[in-house]
Amino acid sequence: MSEDEHPLIPVSLIRQFYYCPRIVYFSQVLGLREMTTELMKAGKEEHAKEEDRDSRRKRVQLGGERYHRLHLRSERLGLEGVVDMVIENKGLVVVERKYAERPRRPLKGHYYQVVAYAMLVESECGRPVRKGRIVYLKSRASIEFEITDEMRRHVLWAVKRIKEIVEEEVIPPYSPRPGCRTCGYRSVCLYV
Ligand code: SF4
Repeated sequence: MSEDEHPLIPVSLIRQFYYCPRIVYFSQVLGLREMTTELMKAGKEEHAKEEDRDSRRKRVQLGGERYHRLHLRSERLGLEGVVDMVIENKGLVVVERKYAERPRRPLKGHYYQVVAYAMLVESECGRPVRKGRIVYLKSRASIEFEITDEMRRHVLWAVKRIKEIVEEEVIPPYSPRPGCRTCGYRSVCLYV
C-alpha cells in the first residue's frame, strides 16, 4: 500500500495521544486546529532561539558528536518527525527540548515522544539508542532515562491506536483529566 493510503504519523501526535486520545480525533479526523496560547507562542520562540545557539555551539564543541534537527521517517514504523538533537556519548542519546519547568516526573506523552524519536533514529542508523533526555528550557534542567523494549512496544501500540481512531473515525469517549483546563480543543470537546 502506498504512503498516500497510509500517511505517516507525526511523532508530535504520539505526545498528543498520551495527553488525550480525543485530540487525535479532533485534529486528524475533523481537521480542527487547537487554539494557540501565549505559552505555545513563547515555546516556539524559545525553541528557535535554542536552535540558533546550537548552530553557534557546533563550531566550538570539543568531542562528543552532536546532530541537530534530523528529519526522519520510517514506513516500517509508520512514523515521521524532526529530532531536536542526537548526541554520541558512549552510545546514542536522543534529546528533546520542552519550554516548561522541570516536573518531578515527565509527562507520559513527553516520554513516549522521545522513545518514538529514538525508534526513528534506530531505524535510520541501525544502532540502538541508549537513552532519552528531556531538557526543560524554563528551569535549565533535564531528565534522562533508559530506552527500554517495553517503551518501544508501547509506542507501536500507540501508533496502532492512532491509526484506528483516524481510519475508523470513532471518537474516544470523554473522560475528564487535569489537562482539560488548558486544552486547546476544550471549546469543541464539551459539545461532542
Ligand atoms: S478538553 Fe479534556 S477530554 Fe477534551 S480533548 Fe481536551 S483533554 Fe481531552
